[in-house]
Amino acid sequence: METSALTQRLNSVGLKATPQRMAIYKALEEYGHASADLVFDKVKKVFPTISVATVYNSLNGMAEAGIISRLILRDNCQYFDITVTAHSHFVCEECHRVWDVLTYLCPYPQGIYKLAGKVNKINMVFYGICKQCWEQGKQKEAGDGKPNSNVR
Ligand SMILES: [Zn+2]
Ligand SMILES: [Zn+2]
Repeated sequence: METSALTQRLNSVGLKATPQRMAIYKALEEYGHASADLVFDKVKKVFPTISVATVYNSLNGMAEAGIISRLILRDNCQYFDITVTAHSHFVCEECHRVWDVLTYLCPYPQGIYKLAGKVNKINMVFYGICKQCWEQGKQKEAGDGKPNSNVR
């Protein structure tokens, strides 16, 4: 997001557009989805004295103001998400990267209308192995020429 647009966005929810807060937002924007630690690693290159607690509090403040969102995707590890509209996720269990999945394109699970009069949003998490990790795994198996020890 452009600096001026970001300033307006922060101000519109009552947050001051401090250089640190802007850097935190922009770091998350680059990742799309990230833990506070990951954002901290990026932001401390520009603000070496910033603490992980400051980054964490700032992300939480922006989440409470509704300009970013919070997710629990695996092992109770909290992620922040630059996208605030309702959507679902795919998590790679190998590399731990996270992708958005537009679940409004998916059919609703069987039986939901036995429980719900109306569905307002869908928030599903798909777990698996991403294409890149999957291909790498296949190459490894093909490359070493030994029988796969996982096969019984
Ligand atoms: Zn992966
Ligand atoms: Zn997302």
